[in-house]
Amino acid sequence: MEIRASLLEGGPLAARIKQDVKIQIEQMVATQGIRPCLAAVRVGDDPASAVYVGNKIKACEEVGIRSEHHALPESTTTSELLDLIGSLNERDDVDGILTQLPLPSAIEERAIIEAIDPAKDVDGFHPVNAGRLALGRPVFVPCTPAGIIELLDDSGIEIRGARACVVGRSQIVGRPMAQLLLQRDATVTICHSRTRDLAAVTREADLLIVAIGRAGMIGREHIKPGATVIDVGMNKVTDADQVRDLFGPDAEKRLAVVSKRGYTLVGDVHPAGAAEVAGKLTPVPGGVGLLTVAMLMKNTLKAAGRRRG
Ligand code: NAP
Repeated sequence: MEIRASLLEGGPLAARIKQDVKIQIEQMVATQGIRPCLAAVRVGDDPASAVYVGNKIKACEEVGIRSEHHALPESTTTSELLDLIGSLNERDDVDGILTQLPLPSAIEERAIIEAIDPAKDVDGFHPVNAGRLALGRPVFVPCTPAGIIELLDDSGIEIRGARACVVGRSQIVGRPMAQLLLQRDATVTICHSRTRDLAAVTREADLLIVAIGRAGMIGREHIKPGATVIDVGMNKVTDADQVRDLFGPDAEKRLAVVSKRGYTLVGDVHPAGAAEVAGKLTPVPGGVGLLTVAMLMKNTLKAAGRRRG
């Protein structure tokens, strides 16, 4: 019999997290006269980055965080960007700094990440914060993996003792995800592009977290029946045949999106194939992405509390 995985939607939990942040900010303003402030820095004209930063700014407005949007031209140099980061570090009224990645290739991304004051590093990418997480003493945890843990907890999915597999070992998703699962007593395997017989490894997992960046790569053959599958991927698909393959009987709605916008967003997990095998599955869009933004709000509130509280 065909199993239809239940969907783990990110929206309701993201809304609750933001509501909770909003209440705490109102209290902070009322009792201490402090309104947290997030400075978002974007360089160049990448349309996806513009959308991501726009969503973050909008979330700030929703929860009552003051925000600044520093949109710099593509021609910005590493040293100019370092100057801006330096001035944001100095300012007492700025609690959180994020630089939207990827930066243009001419800019030294690592130097920029390392220049951000760790106390204002609300993305959790600075080596101090990555190191603290690796030691099991986290302060600022990267927003996407932190949001996934919240989603698993909120959905009553047991992490302790579970066999967890993370596909992808990036600094911003895969590695911190594995650290968080380990801290919560999962037995963790990390896979990457050199993993031999990926499907044999991923099929062992009760909890499969996928952050690769390849549309629909993880299919039914990669998934243990009944497993919880968290799809971090966000890929643009434009080809109608690929959409039909990915969505099967549900393709019509997506094809309508493609004809309207020119593309549809697809995760790294094959949605139609996974739905037949997985127990629970996050949708794309409407899953992990919404939680990422909510956790950024939470981290910014935390930064303000730690710095000025
Ligand atoms: P990344 O830095 O490009 O890392 C991709 C990882 O996938 C690497 O570790 C790579 O292995 C691994 N990989 C590539 N091909 C593979 C294959 N064939 N088999 C197994 N592993 C493979 O990507 P990222 O920044 O982690 O992002 C991953 C995806 O998540 C992207 O689609 C991105 O857009 C999305 N994302 C979404 C959110 C959200 O809020 N929803 C946030 C961040 C990222 P190697 O290390 O061996 O190269």
